[in-house]
Amino acid sequence: MKSVQVCDKSFSLYLSEEEIIKEVKRVASAINSDLEGKCPIFLVILNGSFIFAADLLREISIPCEIQFMRVASYEGTSSTGKVKEILGLNESIEGRTVVIVEDIIDSGTTMKELLKMLQERNPADIRIASLLVKPKNMKVELDIDYRCFDIENDFIVGYGLDYNQEGRNLREIYKIID
Ligand code: 5GP
Ligand code: MG
Repeated sequence: MKSVQVCDKSFSLYLSEEEIIKEVKRVASAINSDLEGKCPIFLVILNGSFIFAADLLREISIPCEIQFMRVASYEGTSSTGKVKEILGLNESIEGRTVVIVEDIIDSGTTMKELLKMLQERNPADIRIASLLVKPKNMKVELDIDYRCFDIENDFIVGYGLDYNQEGRNLREIYKIID
């Protein structure tokens, strides 16, 4: 099994480029048929989803727009983690169909907070497209419209996702060897 070193940790191959692309195409074609005539705004959550977004968007064949946002979670004392905008969304989403493009949903708290923030801007509809979901770790109720893979609770790198900011450039997805 192919393995890589990222910083001080070893990772083994988990999802090949071919497997990833196949699922990205499946999700894109669902979006193409569901959102035809809606001219959706794809809202890409940086940094982790930049590669997923680039591959997904090139499979989108309906008219659409793309915007970027960067958020960070506060490690607060309260049980509900708050997110703050590091790179904000300046365009209006009022009355629009928004597709949030995320790399991974783990506990789901970041997405829950993000949804709350975006709802205040009165979009017509918000959908979630996540490359990866860890269903066994979800701590909130979330309606995830589009997902490429459900995975176990392992730590993942590659295809945009980092470990200590490294490993984002790996073409495949790797899981930590523990
Ligand atoms: P949540 O709020 O859903 O618990 O956390 C989501 C965020 O945690 C993701 O956007 C990502 O930044 C980070 N994250 C969760 N699991 C992983 C993982 O396996 N690998 C990497 N690189 N980041 C992860
Ligand atoms: Mg993310």
